[in-house]
Amino acid sequence: MQITRTPATTTTASSEWVTGTVYVTPVAAAGDTSRLRIDDVRFEPGGRTHWHRHPGGQVLHITEGTGLVQRRGGPAEVVRAGDRVVIAPGEWHWHGAGPTTSMTHLAVLTAAEDGTEAERGEPVTDACYPAGPVL
Ligand code: MN
Repeated sequence: MQITRTPATTTTASSEWVTGTVYVTPVAAAGDTSRLRIDDVRFEPGGRTHWHRHPGGQVLHITEGTGLVQRRGGPAEVVRAGDRVVIAPGEWHWHGAGPTTSMTHLAVLTAAEDGTEAERGEPVTDACYPAGPVL
């Protein structure tokens, strides 16, 4: 057992993976004995991931704010604090804030055996992203 009391280091997500401002704080990182990864992710208004998919799928637990999740072929759907989203292995999707609201979620996934956690697709363009409030 290990207890860590020092704050985790928060970094800004790379523009290779997101549009806008997105802060990532690691909660659990895959290591030698586990492929589990948990991140606390905060999206500032307008911030969102690019389209991507996870070989092992993903669970999102929205902990604060109001945001959007979309899977390929479906509409962008509003998510709020307390909602949980289960994304199937290989399912293309994106997640992020609303245009005028921030959103924070825990993102939980299991990496593939080769360590792959996600495959990146194209950015979510302004044409696909709502221009006005989604409340
Ligand atoms: Mn995802």
